[in-house]
Order: sequence, then structure tokens, then C-alpha cells
Amino acid sequence: MSNHQNRRPQPQQKGKKTRQKVQPRAPRGSGAKRAADVIVSLALVAVVGAGGWRFYQNMQPIAQEGDHLAVGLVTEPLTEAPTEPSVIYQNIAVSNDDIHKGSLILVNYDTAYEEFDAAEIVSIYEHKTENYHVSGTETSIRQPAMDALNEMLDAFYVATGHSDIIVISGYRTKEQQQALYDEDLEQTGASSSTRVALPGHSEHESGYSLDVSLYEDGVQYDYDGTGEYAWIDKNCANYGYILRYTEDKTDVTEIQAEPWHYRYVGEPHASYIMSNNVCLEEYLTLLKNYDNETPLRIINWDGEIYEVYYVPADGASDTTYVLVPPDKEYTISGNNSDGFIVTVDTGEIQKFEETQEESSEEEPADTDKPEENTDNAGQDTGA
Ligand SMILES: [Zn+2]
Repeated sequence: MSNHQNRRPQPQQKGKKTRQKVQPRAPRGSGAKRAADVIVSLALVAVVGAGGWRFYQNMQPIAQEGDHLAVGLVTEPLTEAPTEPSVIYQNIAVSNDDIHKGSLILVNYDTAYEEFDAAEIVSIYEHKTENYHVSGTETSIRQPAMDALNEMLDAFYVATGHSDIIVISGYRTKEQQQALYDEDLEQTGASSSTRVALPGHSEHESGYSLDVSLYEDGVQYDYDGTGEYAWIDKNCANYGYILRYTEDKTDVTEIQAEPWHYRYVGEPHASYIMSNNVCLEEYLTLLKNYDNETPLRIINWDGEIYEVYYVPADGASDTTYVLVPPDKEYTISGNNSDGFIVTVDTGEIQKFEETQEESSEEEPADTDKPEENTDNAGQDTGA
């Protein structure tokens, strides 16, 4: 979507509080998203993939009549002014296989990656801009992470003048991860590795992660995210990226601090994770407290308000019915273990003049945290 790029801060606005400076945008998403445009089955990541947050457009009308409907479904295109469209929820059937797909999948020591949509893996060398380097033509990443990487490192270059970031690792096959693992055991003489993830359990296998170094005059230097490079930790959430492994979360992630490793989770999740200093494991656990009636409201860095909620997979079936608001933009991602996360773009912009008393009493108490903690968005740990 073209408006995606408009959400980026101007280069001069580097650092904190870019949200407050963003002009409210016109409400979007009314015309194209009609109640009749409902998914039956999802190709989740393919949809999320080709260009970021995109509404599922290639859909078929749902055939069932009224089953699991929360409110009466509008089956005709809305040519008249819609009446209270925000209360309409539509149940869509999602294959339980899709638990393992999407930009919020957790891949860690306990949860292995299950391959999906390999066509989405693209060569960084072939798609990157000129403002950074990549270590080889075969280094690759998943498409949505690719687009966001370009935007992030272009903005980093504009803000700092640095074009010496080099992506040294992206997507890895299980075989490549095995080779790295074996190499580490050889070097350390140990029977298991604390530095390299088990094959099948590396986030790199998902295609959503990358490692960076610095590269200048043919020499490669370690990247630690300090100095002017701290811009990336402060701003990566604006592009859907998080610093994945920090020093203070090693007991949860079971991975040492890695200031060079970034993970794409998409907006607005990255804003919440970075602003509230939770790791992905903690965030996905937190989301289980929210359903469609009491979603987690996240104010994205640009003021856009999202509603996020968890839908547990139906263990008694191959399919899970997921309640979604068909009149709004939404995406669905699996969590790679037991359910789905629905992310709804409400189309509302946070009005910063408003007082907090105007917040709905239905909102959980901590939903304003991202706003309050804007100044803490940067991560200084693990440097
Ligand atoms: Zn890494």
C-alpha cells in the first residue's frame, strides 16, 4: 500500500517521539473492504508477505449461513452508508496448519520452525537498496522483512550518513543451521552449543531474521548497536523489526545477548515489544489474555491504533473459526504453537490532545504503556 511509506518519520525526526509529530491521516479502508469480502481459507503469509500490511483481497464469500456469526452478516456490498460496521464480526475458517505461518511465529529452543511458503524467500542482493551491503548473493530473507529492511536502512543512512551496515546472515535452511551447529561444537569441544541454535530451532530458518556487521574498505567489523548505530535500536520498531535477543531476557529466550540479530514481526507488534521491553516469548504469552471483545489496543509509533487478540486453535478439528471484523483491515498470523493472532487496523489515529480519561473502560489497564514509554523504546542492553 502506498500509504505505508508515508508513515515513516522524516529523517530529521530521528530518535524519540516521532509519533507526536506525525500528522493524522485521513480515515482509510472503507471502500474496498466490504462485508462480502470474506476469506474462507487463508494463505496468511502470502498475503501478509507481498508488501506489508495488506488486506486480504482475493477472497471468496463465505458459504455458511450464519454459523458462528457474532452479529448478522451483511452479505451485499455496502452501497448505502454502513450502520455501525464496527460491531460486525465474521467467522472465517482457518486451517490449523496455518498456526505455523506468519510474521509472529515463535521459533526457539522449545518450538521448531515448520517450513512454509518458500517462494516468499528472496535474495537480499537482488532487492536491496544501495545504502547497505550484503555478504553474498545467496543471502536471503522473507519478502515483508526485505521491504522493511530497505526502508529502515535507507532511513538510517539519511539520518546518520552510514552505509556500512552489512547483512551477513538471513534465511538459513535446516542443513545450513546444522552445519553451523556442528562447526560450533567442533570449536568448543562441547556436546551442545550455547551460541548456535539447534537445527530446526533457529529463527533464521523462518526467514524473518537477520544478522548485521559493519563493512568498510573490505574489512568486516563487529556490530554492537552503539554510538550512531543506536539509531537502529531506537527506530527499528517503526519498520516492524525488534532487537530479538537482549541481555536481560536471556533466561526467557535461552539465547545470549545478540545486538546484531534483528527479527521482523511487523507493525504494531514491534512498537509494543520494543517500548515495553518484552521479548517475543513474553509478548505472545501476554496476547493470550486478549480476545476480540477485549483486544489489546496498541498505539503504533505513528499514532495508528490497532487491536490485537488471540484465538486458540480448535484442537478438536483441522480448522479453527476466527472472528474478524470484515469492515476493517486485518491480518492473521499463527504463533507456531497453539493459535492465531489477529491484528486489526482500526483506522483510528490517536489524538494526542485527548486525556487518558477518555480511554474506554473496557481497555485493559496497560494498553497505554506504549504511549507512556515512548522514550524507552531504545534498547541499551546487550551492547
Ligand atoms: Zn542471528
